[in-house]
Amino acid sequence: MMRSQQLTILGSTGSIGCSTLDVVSRYDNISIFALSANRNFKLLLEQCLRYEPKYAVLADSEQHESFKNLLVDSECKTEFLDVENALEIIAAHDQVDLVMAAIVGAAGLASGLAAVSAGKRLLLANKESLVMSGKLLIDAAIRHKAEIIPIDSEHNAIFQCLAETRTQFSAAEERFVEKLVLTASGGPFLNTPNRQLMKVTPKQACAHPKWSMGQKISVDSATLMNKGLELIEASFLFDLPGSAIDILIHPQSIVHSMVYYRDGSVLAQLANQDMRVPIAYGLAFPNRMPSGAEVLDLTTQPPLEFSVPDVARFPCVSLGRAALEEGGTAPAVLNAANEIAVAAFLANRIGFQQIPAIIDAVLSKTPCRPAASLDIIKDADRAARIAANKLI
Ligand code: NAD
Ligand code: MG
Repeated sequence: MMRSQQLTILGSTGSIGCSTLDVVSRYDNISIFALSANRNFKLLLEQCLRYEPKYAVLADSEQHESFKNLLVDSECKTEFLDVENALEIIAAHDQVDLVMAAIVGAAGLASGLAAVSAGKRLLLANKESLVMSGKLLIDAAIRHKAEIIPIDSEHNAIFQCLAETRTQFSAAEERFVEKLVLTASGGPFLNTPNRQLMKVTPKQACAHPKWSMGQKISVDSATLMNKGLELIEASFLFDLPGSAIDILIHPQSIVHSMVYYRDGSVLAQLANQDMRVPIAYGLAFPNRMPSGAEVLDLTTQPPLEFSVPDVARFPCVSLGRAALEEGGTAPAVLNAANEIAVAAFLANRIGFQQIPAIIDAVLSKTPCRPAASLDIIKDADRAARIAANKLI
C-alpha cells in the first residue's frame, strides 16, 4: 500500500485551515502531521482530537498554559511543540510531504520559507508572504526543488489553465502567453457611491457577498487591495510583468481567472465559490480528488458579467500596481502598511477610505531598496509598520 502523505497545516483554525481539514477528511491517503493556531486553542484541541496529529503549535504564548492543561485533561495524544521556531520545525520536518500555508499576513513568511527550503510542496494561501518576499521565496523553491502550488483561487485557476505551457517552475511561458486576467468579485461595496464609502463599518466590510473568509482578507476584498496583492502575487508566481496582468470585475465569481494565449485562445477555470476546490487541487496534484464542493450548474446561474475596476473609488488597485512596478522592497512596504491600516479599521480607529490614504503616504515616504535579502525585507516591513502607525 502507498504510504499516506503527511500534511502540516500552518493556520489550521482559520477559514482556509478548516476548509483544508474538511477536504482531507474525504481522502484516505493524507494524514495530518501537525496543526497550528495563533490563539484559538479550543478549536485547535478539537482538531487534535479528531485528526490526531503528531504535533500542535500555538503561536501566542499567553495561551500556552491553558492549552497544555486542556491537552492533558483530554488525554489527547498530540504533542504540544512548545519551542522557539516551532512553526518552522513543523513546516520543514523530515516526515512532512505537504505544507498548507494558511496563516494570515507577514506572520506566515518564516514558516513558508522553511517549507520550501526543505523541499516540501507548499500549498500557498498566505499571499502576503509571497508579496513581501517575492523572488526570494520563488528562488528558494527553485534551489531546493520545492513545488509551490497557489491556493488563492485566481492563481490556482491560472496554474490550471497554464497546464502544459507551464515550464519547469510554475512560470508562464511568455512565448505563448499574451496576458493573464485576474477576476475580482468587487467586494461588498462594488456599487456603493464614493460619499457613502466614508461611513462604512467593519461589519459591512466583512460581509462579503460571495466568499466567507477571515476578517483581514474580507477587508482587503472590500478595498480591492486583495486584487492589488494578487497582482503582485501573480507576477512573482508566473514570472510576468504587471503590464501582462489585467484585472476584471466579475461579481458572480464563477470564472476564477483566465489565460490569454497568443493564438487568440482564452482558457478559464470555472467553479462554484468554494475554496475546497483549489485546496483539493493542490493536495492531489497532478491527480484530482473530490473536494466536497457543489457541482456548478450553469443553467441556474445569473448571467456572467465582466467590467473594468473603478480605480478612482478603489485606489488600492493602482497602489498595488505602482508597488509592483517600483519593485524591490515596495511590495513589502505596501503589504505592511496595509496590514496596519486594516487592523486599525477593524478596531474602529480609522475610516474605510483612510486605508488607501495611509498606504499611499507610507509608500511615498519610505525609500525603496532592492529586496536582496530577507533582512532587508524585514527592515522595510518594520519601517512601514512604524510609519503607518504614526499616521494613525
Ligand atoms: P483566518 O483569519 O481565518 O485564519 C488565519 C489563521 O492564521 C488562523 O489559524 C490563525 O490562528 C493563524 N494566525 C493568525 N495570526 C498568526 C500569527 N501571528 N502566528 C501564527 N498563526 C497566526 O484567515 P483566512 O481567511 O483563512 O486566510 C488565510 C490566508 O489565506 C491569508 O493570507 C489570506 O489572504 C489567504 N486566502 C484566504 C482565502 C479565503 O477564502 N479565506 C482565499 C484566498 C487566500
Ligand atoms: Mg483570491
